[in-house]
Amino acid sequence: MSKYFANLDLNSLSPEEICHYMEERLRAQLPYCYTNSEFYRRKFQECGADPRDIKTLEDLRALPIFMNKDQERLNAVESLERDGHPFGTHLCIDPRDIYVTATTSGTTGVPTFTYSLTREDVDNFAPALGHRFVMNGLQYGDRVLFIFALGIYATTISLFGLRSVGGVPIDVDARAGSELMLRFAAQTRPRFMATTVSLAEYLIGKSKGIIGREVGDLKFAGVFVTGEVGVAIPEVRQRLEEAYGCPVYDYWAPAGHAIAITCGSREYLGLHAVAPDLCTAFHDLVDPDTKKPVAIEDGAVGEMVVTSLKRQAAPLVKFATGDVVQLSNQPCPHCGFPGHRARIIGRADDMLVVKGVNIYPAALKKVVESFTPQVTGEMRVVLETKPPRVVPPLKLRLERSSQVSDEDLAGLANHIIKAMHDQLKIRPVIEWAAPGSLEKSTRKTPLFEKRYI
Ligand SMILES: [Zn+2]
Repeated sequence: MSKYFANLDLNSLSPEEICHYMEERLRAQLPYCYTNSEFYRRKFQECGADPRDIKTLEDLRALPIFMNKDQERLNAVESLERDGHPFGTHLCIDPRDIYVTATTSGTTGVPTFTYSLTREDVDNFAPALGHRFVMNGLQYGDRVLFIFALGIYATTISLFGLRSVGGVPIDVDARAGSELMLRFAAQTRPRFMATTVSLAEYLIGKSKGIIGREVGDLKFAGVFVTGEVGVAIPEVRQRLEEAYGCPVYDYWAPAGHAIAITCGSREYLGLHAVAPDLCTAFHDLVDPDTKKPVAIEDGAVGEMVVTSLKRQAAPLVKFATGDVVQLSNQPCPHCGFPGHRARIIGRADDMLVVKGVNIYPAALKKVVESFTPQVTGEMRVVLETKPPRVVPPLKLRLERSSQVSDEDLAGLANHIIKAMHDQLKIRPVIEWAAPGSLEKSTRKTPLFEKRYI
């Protein structure tokens, strides 16, 4: 029996039986939320639903959205004013019983303490978070160079995952700078690295100057990246794998849920959902515009909606994550993983509408990346009016590489515009930026350059 799922009980179950398993937990989770949170009580009452009547995933999909990031922020403001804590009115426990808390990155506004967990929550979630790395070769005692903005941020929660499966994190704060990161890498000889795509790319150019060796000489067995649409783009993955000399995997756990990772397939086959017993994310999608349910079938595209299945402190119910994904419910043709998989298409709030066509910056980046090394791959979408509607033509600022002469730029721009038209049905205008002039962030690189007030 293959150990695809972190919860070993699930590995002997059929997809239908896994759904029943999820539904059993759902029937306990929803009344728990109703009883223990005033916010959820109000939400159920507003839509005229009794949580005891929501017995199946189908029943759950029929409920409206209860929460999104903005609502979560409002809940936090309310709980801070009224109860003196920042965890929100959807908190289901005494705030003193929170064992660990961590926030979202705050790149899209005020951070929220989405990752607030009891000790029991940590015990439930950590094995699933860690299982992702085990699936891709992590063994007991392996050191993992773990580079993120640490401390209060969500990525810190993954450290519980690594430790629960016997990994030894070498956790270095990304804000410490490339010198410290690379020196720890050289000194501790980690077998794996976990970081963001931007940082993994950034370190490639810094390594030789700081430790006298290329990143490939650090001999990682694998690199795990998260936080951006990155290795779903073949050129990005190829660049990283060539430089590091090892496979690069994509992993995520938005809102601490939808815990998933890619497998080692050459072709990108999506994030494999290793913990369907902890939330319904891969079983609940809505149209990003209308928020109406999207049928869960192979190839379905929609915004992921999370409902917790076994969470005590701050469970989420019908939480629209803002992540638009394409779902796959067929077994993975590479590794045989029998559960659901998803490819990230983009953020619902990053979506642009150009002449009625929905465009995600990630799709633009994918086209731009196919022109490396003539371009560096760094880019910004220039917005002259408030999104999502864009008065055509869409304007892109692309960083040219130093290999391209001034005379060749116009021809290169034409090739890129043609590719955009063939693949995305838009004809953008292109502004060139000098090599290295667009800022690279150690966290999430900005997608947009706003030129409106
Ligand atoms: Zn696979």
